[in-house]
Amino acid sequence: MDYCPVCGRVLEPAEIENHKVKKCVCGYIDWDNWVNLSAVSVCYNEHHEFMMVHLKGKSQGIITFPGGFRNLGETLEEAAKRECFEESGYLIDDLKLYKIYTKDDLRLVWVVYKAKIIGGSFLENSETEKVSFFSTAHPPQKNLLRGSLTEGLLQDLISEDDHEKR
Ligand SMILES: [Zn+2]
Repeated sequence: MDYCPVCGRVLEPAEIENHKVKKCVCGYIDWDNWVNLSAVSVCYNEHHEFMMVHLKGKSQGIITFPGGFRNLGETLEEAAKRECFEESGYLIDDLKLYKIYTKDDLRLVWVVYKAKIIGGSFLENSETEKVSFFSTAHPPQKNLLRGSLTEGLLQDLISEDDHEKR
């Protein structure tokens, strides 16, 4: 950011407690810690299986959880429901906040909900070719997972179920 979002003046480089920041004479500080928020859902069917989406295009064959960036003006729950529908055709409700994950190299934060599938079926779309349902006892192959956030979330779900069984 080069200009102050409060007053519009040019921001000047500064250092605060070893953080390289940009400051404005009006008092505004740009901490350079912005992130994109993505609303992601672990969507369960009535058999306690969760849905994952198979990507198409350049990530063909890779799978992840449905989700995507929140639009300004949306709540995170609205974003989660919308993204799930766009990527799968399924409708979800009863969202409960599960965990937050961060990935700094992508300036990405995943806000993850657990949700119930209340209807719908797979709809053709530009991002995914199909959906599959998995359980923590029969998870997808690790080499098909999209990246560290997908892996981390799946691992947390598996650990949690293992823990509950003990
Ligand atoms: Zn200012």
